[in-house]
Amino acid sequence: MARYIFITGGVVSSLGKGLASAALGALLQARGYTVRLRKLDPYLNVDPGTMSPFEHGEVFVTDDGAETDLDLGHYERFTGVSARRTDTISAGRIYSNVLERERRGGYLGKTIQVIPHVTNEIKDFLAIGEDEVDFQLCEIGGTVGDIEGLPFFEAIRQFSNDRPRGQCILMHLTLLPYLAASGELKTKPTQHSVKELRSIGLQPDVLVCRSEQPIPDRERAKIALFCNVRPDAVIPAYDLKSIYEAPMAYHQAGLDRAVLDAFRISPAPRPDLRRWEDVMDRLTNAEGEVRVAIVGKYTQLEDAYKSISEALTHGGMANRVRVRPDWIDAEKLETAEGIHLLDGYHGIVVPGGFGERGTEGMISAAKYAREKKVPYLGICLGMQMAVIEAARNLAGIADAGSEEFDHEAGADRFTPVVYHLKEWVKGNSTVQRKITDDKGGTMRLGSYTAHLAPGSKVAEVYGGATEMEDRHRHRYEIDAAYRDRLEQHGLWFSGMSPDGRLPEVVEVRDHPWFIGVQSHPELKSKPFAPAPLFRDFVRAAKDLERMV
Ligand code: GLN
Repeated sequence: MARYIFITGGVVSSLGKGLASAALGALLQARGYTVRLRKLDPYLNVDPGTMSPFEHGEVFVTDDGAETDLDLGHYERFTGVSARRTDTISAGRIYSNVLERERRGGYLGKTIQVIPHVTNEIKDFLAIGEDEVDFQLCEIGGTVGDIEGLPFFEAIRQFSNDRPRGQCILMHLTLLPYLAASGELKTKPTQHSVKELRSIGLQPDVLVCRSEQPIPDRERAKIALFCNVRPDAVIPAYDLKSIYEAPMAYHQAGLDRAVLDAFRISPAPRPDLRRWEDVMDRLTNAEGEVRVAIVGKYTQLEDAYKSISEALTHGGMANRVRVRPDWIDAEKLETAEGIHLLDGYHGIVVPGGFGERGTEGMISAAKYAREKKVPYLGICLGMQMAVIEAARNLAGIADAGSEEFDHEAGADRFTPVVYHLKEWVKGNSTVQRKITDDKGGTMRLGSYTAHLAPGSKVAEVYGGATEMEDRHRHRYEIDAAYRDRLEQHGLWFSGMSPDGRLPEVVEVRDHPWFIGVQSHPELKSKPFAPAPLFRDFVRAAKDLERMV
């Protein structure tokens, strides 16, 4: 039976709960345990798939096709454990399950209440996969005191009581604000947030205190005393230059020891931290810098492309070079002068996105990269735009475009080299979709295999493999009907779906490094196992940097 670590936050949001959870997961693995990280989000959206990337950051897609919160991306990047659909749930989904069951008569006409019906639904979720791992780390989104969060806090209180003693602990993250005027770190907000937890029957076992300034022992002792936590379970968490320093920093601060101690696991197995030592070494001993332009639509919020920027960092670590990404609003590249914003970059990435806005700029970026022989990595929409560019400028289909934009505009303006896919094969079955289906979950989602052409650049990237597998999230596809025509003009369809119908990878033959993929390889990239496409893209950018 798994032990449970519940992770909550107080004082302010954005304290880095997800990161602390992920780092703790990595440290438990380093001590030989198996872990599973999960996220419970108190917001009322049923799933994050339809939430705006401007507001909520990237949608992280799992192998099994769930559209989830970007925290699951952190979990995967730190532990290497592939996230699953059942690793995340929102209050919206919980309520929707309860209400659906009520409609079906599942409660036999009883009065439906938050306790026990909603809390039971949450507890059932927590119990999933209980026998599979040594530790389940369950992070509760939001901050203690949020009105939406209450049923979750109540559920973890009950859950801990339902299990044998010592099976569940609570780790709480808080902030110690620093008052420059008096030169003091203040512990009162932490005391108040713990008081808030205790008022609903929860006592933290471990307190993680974020602070910009060193926490003196005196203050640590005071927090321990007032919050009813052991002094060595008050863990300081200082700001870090890179998130990948977190496992080592938390280890040095005693987090994993405090957690095992709270479970009374003694003696604790010795940690093997070589993986993280290597990561630190690569981070700190990088030589030189490559500049990468990321040409997208959601450039105001970096979290919208979280996995892309992380995968670029991983690519840099693999090549021992720093990657400096610049976010460029695609719309700015739509003029003759605007395109010069790309001058001087060693690589260009056009990431995924939805809708027509900015796409002419992305097409210009693909043209620029192709003609000037700058390394190009097009991801999903970025691949589609590269194909449209080649269709217009190499194959002479002047009005080539995507059906997505015609649907959006309600007019037929383009020859659709990218079209809306309504039926495709997944494993042994066929999936069918209509454009009028619900917005949520109508895409080709999750992991799909691509067959790679022998001798292609992409096959070389994957070490000579004949197949690759990556995660998808899109409605539209390149129309394979244009394959021959485009291939005659130098755009190789070097990766195809196993049934040969769906183009998965394209590359420009006469170019140092120009690849477009329909999938999202950034989602599987880890600091200790970079996505091969990002690794080799950064290598090509580094080659260009060394040449000029
Ligand atoms: N909008 C495009 C589609 O739906 C691309 C999606 C993406 O980049 N993830 O096919």
